[in-house]
Amino acid sequence: MEKIKALKGTYDILPEDAYKWDYIEKTAKEVCRDFGFDEIKIPVFEYTDLFARGVGDTTDVVQKEMYTFTDKGGRSITLRPEGTAGTVRSVLEHSLLAGALPIKLFYLITCYRNEKPQAGRYREFRQFGIEAFGSSDFRIDAEIISLAMEFFARLGLKGLTLNINSIGCPECRAKYNKALKEFLAQKYDNLCPTCKTRFDKNPMRILDCKDPSCGELVKDAPVLLDYICDECQEHFAGVKHTLDLLGIEYNIDTGIVRGLDYYTKTVFEIKSDSLGAQSTVCGGGRYDGLVEQLGGHPTPGIGFGLGLERLLLTMQAQGIEIPGKPKPKIFVCELGDKAVDYGVKIVADLRKKGISAVRDCMGRGLKAQMKYADKIGAEYTIVIGDNEIEAGKCALKHMESGESQEIILNEIDKYLRKG
Ligand code: ATP
Ligand code: MG
Repeated sequence: MEKIKALKGTYDILPEDAYKWDYIEKTAKEVCRDFGFDEIKIPVFEYTDLFARGVGDTTDVVQKEMYTFTDKGGRSITLRPEGTAGTVRSVLEHSLLAGALPIKLFYLITCYRNEKPQAGRYREFRQFGIEAFGSSDFRIDAEIISLAMEFFARLGLKGLTLNINSIGCPECRAKYNKALKEFLAQKYDNLCPTCKTRFDKNPMRILDCKDPSCGELVKDAPVLLDYICDECQEHFAGVKHTLDLLGIEYNIDTGIVRGLDYYTKTVFEIKSDSLGAQSTVCGGGRYDGLVEQLGGHPTPGIGFGLGLERLLLTMQAQGIEIPGKPKPKIFVCELGDKAVDYGVKIVADLRKKGISAVRDCMGRGLKAQMKYADKIGAEYTIVIGDNEIEAGKCALKHMESGESQEIILNEIDKYLRKG
C-alpha cells in the first residue's frame, strides 16, 4: 500500500525535537509572567468574517493566504492565519475590557496560511503573540518591544535588529494617502493586478507588495513619517525615549507600513541576521482602531506576532544549545524470570515517586539491555538478578562517569542525583 505523506508546508515535530519547542514555550511563558501578561487560548477556526474585518480584506493574508471552507451548516469558516483577531473577538465576547485595564494577554498558537512553502515559511506554523488593550501610553509600546527583546535575550539570541516606525493616526494617513496616490497615479499602469485594486481601496498596501517590480516602482514614494501630526510625533518620541531609557537599540525604518485603517502610530519588526530571505522573526504594532472595527468600544491596543520556526532556525544557525532533552533517570536491567517481576515492581515504585524509570520490554539479554540503556541516555542503571534480590542490595552505576556504588534495593531513590 502507498504511504500517505504529510501535506506540503506542514511538518512533524519528532521526539528528538519536541523538547526544544517546550523550552521555547516555557521561556515565553516565564517572560510573560515577569511582564504581567496572562495566557489566553483561542480556537483554531473562526468565522471567515472575523479575519476579513480583523486582519483586513486588502491584505495578502486575507486575499490570498487563508484556508477557508464551508462547513456542513453552510457557514464560511477559516483556520486562523494569526492570533490578534481571535483574541480581540474573545476579549469582547467575554467583556474582559470591563475589568481592570490594561488587559495584557499572550498566546502560543499554530497558524495556517496557504502560501508557498520555503525556508522559514510554512502552511502550518507557530506563533508566540502578545496583545495589550486599554492603554494609549507610549510606555506600553516600549514594554511590548522590550518583552520581545527580553525573550530573545533569555534564549541567548544574538544578531537581531529592531526596526521601528510610526504610521500615525487616520488623520495623518488621510493626508499621506493623498500624496501617495498622486505619486502612484503616474505608475498605475505598471502595478501588479493586486496593487491596481489596492490603489483605490488602500494604496499603502502597495508599499508592502512582495512583487519586486512593484517594489521598484515605490522606491521613491513619499514617506509616511514625514506626514504625521504633532500628537503622533510626540508619541513616537516617547517610544524612542523609553527604548533609550531601557538601553534597547533600534533603527528607524520608514519602510515599515501596516496599511490598515486600524493600525496606528508605532509599528516595528525584529529581524535576524542568521536567516535568509524570510528574516523577520517578529512583527508588531499599535492598533487603536481594531477593537472598534470588531464591534467593541474604541479601545487602544498593541501587540506582536513572533514566528517560532524562524526563531528556532536562528537558534540553530547560531549553535545555541537547547537544554531539557528528556532522558530516563534510571534503567533497570533484569537477569532471570524472578528479576523481571521484581524489575516491573521497582520501576512502578520509582515512577510513583516521580522518577523516570525504564525497563526492557523486548525480552533482551543483559548485554543488549545495557546497550539499550546507553542508547536512550539513561543516567543510571542497576542490574538485578537472584543474588541481588536475596541480598536486598545491588550496584548502581552512573553511566557517564562509569562509577558504581552498592545500594539498598528498596532505597534506590535516595542515591539518585536530583534533576
Ligand atoms: P512575511 O513578510 O514573512 O510574510 P508577515 O508580515 O506575513 O511575514 P505577520 O503576519 O506579521 O508576518 O506574522 C508575524 C510573524 O509570524 C512573522 O514575522 C514571521 O516570523 C511569522 N510568519 C508569518 N508567516 C509565516 C509562515 N508562513 N511560516 C512561518 N512563519 C511565519
Ligand atoms: Mg506573509
